[in-house]
Amino acid sequence: MVNSHRTQLAALTDEIVACRMCTRLVDWREKIGEQKRASYRDWDYWAKPVPSFGDPDASLVLLGLAPAAHGGNRTGRVFTGDASATFLTSAMHQAGLANQPNSDHRDDGLVLCGAYIGAAVRCVPPGDRPTPEEQKACLPYLVRELKILPNLKVIMALGHIAFRATLQTLSDMAGAKLRGKFRHGEVYRFGSSLPIMVASYHPSPRNTNTGVLSMEALVKVLNQAKELSQN
Ligand code: SF4
Repeated sequence: MVNSHRTQLAALTDEIVACRMCTRLVDWREKIGEQKRASYRDWDYWAKPVPSFGDPDASLVLLGLAPAAHGGNRTGRVFTGDASATFLTSAMHQAGLANQPNSDHRDDGLVLCGAYIGAAVRCVPPGDRPTPEEQKACLPYLVRELKILPNLKVIMALGHIAFRATLQTLSDMAGAKLRGKFRHGEVYRFGSSLPIMVASYHPSPRNTNTGVLSMEALVKVLNQAKELSQN
C-alpha cells in the first residue's frame, strides 16, 4: 500500500502519546505541566509522551535521551522550545537537514530534510535521569519505530544514554548483544543488515556552554552522518 509506513508511524505515534506505563514519569510530566515555568505560564503544556518528528522517508535518525521539562514536554515536539533545540536545529540547518535554524513550537514551519528525530524515553524524567526500568519500558516503541522507517541507514546518538539505548535497540534488532564505547564522531558498523551508528555529544547547554561541543563540531558530525546515510 502506498505510504503504508506513514500510516504505521501515525498509528504508533497515537499509541505512544496515550501511554501511561511508567507511573513516576506520568506524575512528573503532568506535575510540570500544572506548575509551569513562570515565563511560560500562559502556555498549555503538552505534558504527555513526546512523539518523534521528521521525514518518514528519512535515512538518518537522530536520537536524544528524553524530552526536556519546558522544551518538548511543553511544546509537544521533540527538541523544540529550549536551548538544546536551538543549538541542534541551527546545526541541522547548516548541514542541510532542516529548512530553518529554529525550533520554537509545533507550528513554526520547521521541516526536516531526510532526517527524523526521536528519543530513547518519551516522557520527561526527574533530573533528566530515567531509571533502567523506565528505559526498558520505552525501548520497544523505538525498536518498532526504527523497523517501520523504510530508508533508515544511520542512527546518530546524542549523548551517552541515547548511545546505550541505540546499542540496545540494535542488539534487539540483531538478536545478539552488540558492544561499543562512546566517542564523539565515532562511526560504528555492525553488519549490512543493521543501520550504521554515529555518536555525538548531546547539544545541551551543559556541553555547548562549556566548550565540550562546539557548533562547528556538531555540524561536522552531522555532515558525516548525512553523507553516510546517502551512500
Ligand atoms: S516513558 Fe515511554 S513507556 Fe514510559 S510512560 Fe512514557 S511513553 Fe510510556
